[in-house]
Amino acid sequence: MPFTEEERQRIREALKERGVPGICPVCQKGELWVSDYIAFVPVREKHAEVRGAGTIVEGLFPVGDLPCVVVVCAECGNTMLFHLSGLGLWDELVGGLEAARRGR
Ligand SMILES: [Zn+2]
Repeated sequence: MPFTEEERQRIREALKERGVPGICPVCQKGELWVSDYIAFVPVREKHAEVRGAGTIVEGLFPVGDLPCVVVVCAECGNTMLFHLSGLGLWDELVGGLEAARRGR
């Protein structure tokens, strides 16, 4: 479900409070807009696991997903990700939904 207009306004305010400019820092021309959806960026960690019969398997293992707001430049396509916790919006936008999903 896309962000509501109220949620989009909260995101724009949080970005502004943290110094994110309204104009793209790459091309210096394009207006930045907030995508309609949260991006969940998969995060992996390098470590070793012991599996049956003492076999050690080394590799990259999923440790979670970083929920991020996607900000895109309308001119050059520069795309920036801002973690919801860093914006102070985790609880408001995802926390309750995550708790409900895990409670199933
Ligand atoms: Zn740009």
